[in-house]
Amino acid sequence: MDRGDLPPERFRLFLAVRRGVPLGLAAILMGLALLEPVRHGWGRGWLILAAMACLGEVWPTFKRGRAYLAARGPIMKWDAGWVYLLRPIFRWLGHEEDWILSFCAWNNHRVRESFEARKARKALILLPHCIQMARCKADVLTELSSCYECGLCPVGDYLPLQLTLGWQSRITNRSHKAYREAREYRPDLIVAVSCLDRLLKGLVKLPEVPCYVIPLELPHRMCVDTTFSVPHLMAAMGTLVEPRETAAETPEKVLPFHREGIA
Ligand code: SF4
Repeated sequence: MDRGDLPPERFRLFLAVRRGVPLGLAAILMGLALLEPVRHGWGRGWLILAAMACLGEVWPTFKRGRAYLAARGPIMKWDAGWVYLLRPIFRWLGHEEDWILSFCAWNNHRVRESFEARKARKALILLPHCIQMARCKADVLTELSSCYECGLCPVGDYLPLQLTLGWQSRITNRSHKAYREAREYRPDLIVAVSCLDRLLKGLVKLPEVPCYVIPLELPHRMCVDTTFSVPHLMAAMGTLVEPRETAAETPEKVLPFHREGIA
């Protein structure tokens, strides 16, 4: 995968429900209105009004680009309401993860559409502390460059990219710290890596800031030695964010510092 090659966004499940339910309801209400005897004209009026309300409810899902970004806060809160409302049903069906993944993919799709033509100028990457190998002693939480780049966890793959490409990032062990950092930095785009639950919570807590999300992989268990696709992150940054000055252009400004040591 190169930097411009983002993986496909699989959002059909969320979109089918998010649009299908109100549109289906609108069609039923319009059908009932047509069947309503003319002498009950007031009943027909209410049915048509309700059908229009359903159409109005689904309308924000068609917003694109700048119109979407301008209305993103309320759109995101409303869409997340659908996710939380139907989550127990999908859990009961055994597809809770698919449901949340589908919502994240829909979010990514709309964010990508909005930034592909006009890229973000001030992006912030949020990483969870659990990507650091549990037994590693490097104090990456305080200073990311404490990493020895031993290659045993994704931090070592990420650090040289941050240095050479000039990315802004925060690695945190608490969600509320990540939200605070993001609010203070005031980015026009966040690229967040986390577990599904935290990504969903983050999209709800910071709905006004466009956020491209990358789910963690959990080869062991939650919160321990997790990992993520660094190529996916590179593709997201390459597609959505204006490149900053690179090491090749300003060699005197970027001095990768390799610490001696082991994890
Ligand atoms: S020193 Fe190795 S294990 Fe520790 S954070 Fe860096 S790459 Fe990961």
